[in-house]
Amino acid sequence: MKSVFHAAGPMMLLAALTLTLVGCSKETTAEVKTEPVESATAEVKPYPLDTCVVEDEKLGSMGDPYVFVHEGQELKLCCKGCLKDFHKEPAKYLVKVEAVKKS
Ligand SMILES: [Zn+2]
Repeated sequence: MKSVFHAAGPMMLLAALTLTLVGCSKETTAEVKTEPVESATAEVKPYPLDTCVVEDEKLGSMGDPYVFVHEGQELKLCCKGCLKDFHKEPAKYLVKVEAVKKS
């Protein structure tokens, strides 16, 4: 009899532990997602243009500009629709930003 209780103890503990771990892992994933953004904004290079990096459209002419950070470089787009184009050739647009910073 004693041994049955002995065995049930760890089993319950394991079940509780598994539940805790599952709950934790979900929270951890959420934290991991926010953390890189925070550390990236800490050393982010400011966007040097007042126009959309994709369309050269004046920022704010189509509403609030879309601001995001790509590999530590802040980028602004006249609209979120330009994000699609940016991701097609990010290097091409980053070159434009670098060129402005050098001039
Ligand atoms: Zn745009």
